[in-house]
Amino acid sequence: MSETPTAHRVALLRDVPPGELLIHEIYKSVQGESTFAGLPCVFVRTAVCDSRCTWCDTPHAFNRGERMTRAAVLARALAFDCPLVEVTGGEPLLQPDVLPLMAELADAGRTVLLETSGAHDVSAVDPRVHVVLDLKCPDSGECGRNRWANLTALKPTDQIKFVIASRRDWDWAAGAIREHRLDERFQCLVSPVFGAVAPVELVNWLLDSGLGRVRFQLQLHKVVWDPATRGV
Ligand code: SF4
Repeated sequence: MSETPTAHRVALLRDVPPGELLIHEIYKSVQGESTFAGLPCVFVRTAVCDSRCTWCDTPHAFNRGERMTRAAVLARALAFDCPLVEVTGGEPLLQPDVLPLMAELADAGRTVLLETSGAHDVSAVDPRVHVVLDLKCPDSGECGRNRWANLTALKPTDQIKFVIASRRDWDWAAGAIREHRLDERFQCLVSPVFGAVAPVELVNWLLDSGLGRVRFQLQLHKVVWDPATRGV
C-alpha cells in the first residue's frame, strides 16, 4: 500500500538515530508571537510535521532537513548568545531528542519556548519550558487532532494559541475558551490568518465577546518583513 503524503513525511524521521535530530534551520530573529513577542530569539526549527493545516506558513519544513547530533544543535543555538530560544517546526514533538534538548537549553540558562501543534502529548516536556500550544480551529482542517488531554498537563504560565481564518473559527475558539475556562487557566492568544481575516475584524470580534483576558496578536515577522520571507 502506498504511503500518504503525511506518512511519507514522518517516515523521513525513521532513519534518525537516538542522539540526533532532523533540523530545518537554526537562526536568530525577533519573536513574532506569544507573550514574548518582540524579544530577540533563536529559533530551532525541526523538520517534518504530521499535520497539514490549510494555512501553514512553514510547508518548506515538511520534508527537508539536515541530520545533526543533539550536541551540535545545542552548541549552535547557544552560540548566538541570546537568552530566549524557541523550539518550533514542523512538529518538534515528533522527534524524541527534542525533550532532552530543551532541558539542556534550560540548564544553560536559556528561557525556552516550545511551539507545538497540540496533537502530541506535552506531559513529558521539562516544566521550565514555556509551552505555546495551538488549538486548531475548524478551518485549519486539523481540528479533529486536538489532544484535549494536554490541557491537564499545561502550567498557568503556558500559552494557548488560536489561529483564526474565519468567523466560524472565532466562534469555535470563543466557545472552547468559555467551555474549558482557558482564559482563567492559561495565557490565551488569538491571531488572524494573514490574508484571510482582517486584523480589525478579529479585534472587533474579541471586543464584542467580552473575553477580557484573551490577547490579540499579529504575526510580527509578517509586518516587519515581506510576508513571504523565510528564515526571519
Ligand atoms: S502544525 Fe504547524 S507546521 Fe504543522 S501543518 Fe500546522 S501550521 Fe504547519
